[in-house]
Amino acid sequence: MNQRLELEGSGMTSRRTRLRMLDRLRAQGIRNEAILEVMLNTPRHLFVETGFAERAYEDTALPIGQGQTISQPYSVARMTELLLEYGRPDNVLEVGTGCGYQTAVLASLVKKVSTVERILPLQQRAKDLLWSLKYRNIRFKHSDGGWGWPEYGPYDGILVTAAPAEIPEALLKQLARGGVMIIPVGAGREQILQRVVHEEQGLVVESIEHATFVPLLAGVI
Ligand code: SAH
Repeated sequence: MNQRLELEGSGMTSRRTRLRMLDRLRAQGIRNEAILEVMLNTPRHLFVETGFAERAYEDTALPIGQGQTISQPYSVARMTELLLEYGRPDNVLEVGTGCGYQTAVLASLVKKVSTVERILPLQQRAKDLLWSLKYRNIRFKHSDGGWGWPEYGPYDGILVTAAPAEIPEALLKQLARGGVMIIPVGAGREQILQRVVHEEQGLVVESIEHATFVPLLAGVI
């Protein structure tokens, strides 16, 4: 298949299928049209494991290799919407690159994304794919994102796509004054999506809704 067809998709990866995904996201309460537009134009079918492209625009998590999953479209849209609600951050840290789909959505909406992944083959594949798709405002790191990426902080946006039992102290320290962090928190399979806002008086934590993410694990592989 030539590059153009591959990007645009056909059949179950076509524009029509993507528009259906947008309708579903709107029905699920997503209101930010800028995010929906970005998701319409981001070729999600290129991010999932071969063999699952046909199902890429369904509202479901799908395998991306190494026992990990791409977040379902609703989670990506919702987390991005929550992150951007008080204005667009310039400098965003993402913990859990995975296949890089959420990274791509973020990179289309903010100035700079720094993304960290603990599993080397996933990190490398995401890096190659995003480079080939012409994203030029993303820096990648293979490391334990529980420690953040202090070099380029503080960040006015932090988005975590794996769940810790408690919010890591290092991430709180790298959240700039006025910054917003979106993070699923909980020890088991069921977590609560939280938004932390670094206000003048200190950190304000808001519980948003239930979530199911893979756990944030320590160390790298
Ligand atoms: N946004 C990604 C989500 C992938 S699932 C996507 O849509 O593809 C979460 C990812 O977080 C997995 O790839 C997992 O390996 C990674 N992860 C888990 N613990 C981590 C840690 N401590 N540091 C960095 N990445 C981590």
